[in-house]
Parts: sequence; structure tokens; C-alpha cells
Amino acid sequence: MAIRFDGRVAIVTGAGGGLGRSHALEFARRGAKVVVNDLGGSVDGSGGSSDAANAVVEEIKAAGGEAIANGSSVTDRDGVARLVAEAMDAFGRIDILVNNAGILRDKSFAKMNMDDFQLVVDVHLMGAANCAHAVWPVMKQQKYGRIVMTASSSGLYGNFGQTNYGAAKLGQAGLMNTLKLEGAKDNIHTNAIVPIAATRMTEDLFPPQLLELFRPELVSPAVMLLAGEDAPNGEIICAGAGHFAKAQIVESEGAYLGADATAEALAARWDDIVDMRGQQPFEMGAKQTEKFAMKAMAALKKG
Ligand code: NAD
Repeated sequence: MAIRFDGRVAIVTGAGGGLGRSHALEFARRGAKVVVNDLGGSVDGSGGSSDAANAVVEEIKAAGGEAIANGSSVTDRDGVARLVAEAMDAFGRIDILVNNAGILRDKSFAKMNMDDFQLVVDVHLMGAANCAHAVWPVMKQQKYGRIVMTASSSGLYGNFGQTNYGAAKLGQAGLMNTLKLEGAKDNIHTNAIVPIAATRMTEDLFPPQLLELFRPELVSPAVMLLAGEDAPNGEIICAGAGHFAKAQIVESEGAYLGADATAEALAARWDDIVDMRGQQPFEMGAKQTEKFAMKAMAALKKG
């Protein structure tokens, strides 16, 4: 079954280059009307120009598609309101939001300037929340919406020099975890990708022979599926170089230590507690609380 977006409207933030451009072009090729947002700054977020977004809009139009450009920063709530208003004026609805805009300000934590920490959190986490919050009423009213977050292996697993970036990126997954619950009844599905691609952001990390292997175009299929009509809800999909995988937070079965649990008793059972063989994911935090209550109640019953 072809994944098509005819009649659908997609906003892609940070779509003036790299991954965002690839997603925007692919949405347009598949029939979507696209709002190409990009501040047009450098990798560290400095500067800005509408040229990048305009160039992608021209590419889409040249291929016979429909698109408009927007140069708002995702950190600017008034700018995000303008982005949504322009999308509604031009196309009358918003079906898809891809939170892709991002910057880097890498430094080891010891040398990290907290203004750089704040800025990275502002762009990735607050930017994603600002955009999701602005499209939310539209999607609720339509009873249809697809939101795709852009997380990172740096958030899931850590990377030297990226405390700010990693925290913000896992924050987007945390944002998704609750949006997936709150949006479900209105057919708003929220998912996340964890991309690996050779772009200006990562070009120094890839040896030249891998640049072609990690084309941004090989991440976009994950976005198309997660933004499609049959999208799942609450999945984290890793994508790069043509390989795709699911990431998930799981919890061990653990061990019940009783109402008189002590740190020493915990240490004595450590191997059981960190044994991941009975690992379990939870669809929401309340289910995990339920598990803990059940363990304690079962012990009480036993006497
Ligand atoms: P990129 O630098 O080419 O793209 C990021 C885009 O976001 C740029 O065009 C930039 O102008 C725009 N942008 C930055 N701040 C903005 C703001 N405040 N408002 C609007 N637009 C803004 O790099 P990319 O690799 O294509 O990154 C895309 C996304 O994927 C980012 O969120 C990045 O963190 C994430 N990511 C990339 C990789 C990778 O391997 N390339 C890995 C993990 C996550």
C-alpha cells in the first residue's frame, strides 16, 4: 500500500537543509502541501536567513508540488503562532508536524556554558513543545493529527560533550510519551525518530566513504510511515543508512524487599534487581505504579 498524503498539510521545522529538507521533499512527492520552516542559521544556531526555506519551497514547486516558506524560530512563541496562522491561511488545515529543527553547542559538562545548555534545550525541547502546542487545537478540532519528534541516540544512550543536546533530545521522547496518551482519543498520534545521517551537523563525524551511505533520504521513510494514516502511536524508530529499529524504555521485573527494605537488603538483591530477563515496557506511568502496588499487596496477602 502506497503511503500518500494527498489533501494533507505537513509542517516540517528546520526544513531548509539536511534531514528536514529531505522529509519536506518526500512529503511533497507523496502529495502533501508542505510548510517549510527554517530560521536559516548556522549549526550552532547563530545568524538567520529565509533563503534556506525559500530554496526548498522552490524545489518543491519546480517538481510540481505546493509549499510555502516560514522563517520563524521555533523558540519564539509568537513566531510559531505566525507559522501556524500562515499554514492555515494557505492550506486550511494542519495534519502533520515534524519537529526537526535543531542546533548543537557541544562542550564537556565541565566546560559547558549554561547559556549554551539553555539554548539547546530551548530549540530542541521547548521548540518541539511550542510547535506541538500551537498545532494541537487544530489537530483536535480536525480529529486528526500526526506529530513526529526528532530524538537522538545521544539522548537515549549519551554522547561525550552533549549533556545539553542529549537531555533535550530525550526530553522530546518524554513529551511524546504523554502526547501519545492525550492525543489518542482525537486520532492524534505522536511518534519519534532517532536519525543517523550525514548532514552539515554530523559531516565531521563521518569518514568520507560513509557520507553517501548515510544519506538523509534514508531516514525519511521512517518519517513518512510515522506521519501516515496508519501510523502507530508512541513508537521510537531509529533510522539510518537503510537500517531501521525500534527503541524502547523497559524495566526489569525487580525484587520485592518488603516494608522494612533497607539499602543493605537492596545491595544483597542487586543482581536480581538489574536482571533484565523479565523486562517489561509500560504504556503509561500509572501502569508502572500499579505493578509496584501489586507487588506490595501480594506480599501483604501472603502475610
Ligand atoms: P541541519 O543543521 O542540516 O538541520 C537543522 C535545521 O534546523 C537547520 O536547517 C537549521 O537552520 C534549523 N534550525 C535551527 N534552529 C532553528 C530554530 N530555532 N527554528 C527553526 N529552524 C531552526 O542538521 P540535521 O542533521 O538535518 O538535523 C535535523 C534534526 O535531526 C535535528 O533536530 C538534529 O538534532 C537531529 N538529529 C540529527 C542526527 C544526524 O545524524 N544528522 C542525529 C540525531 C538527531
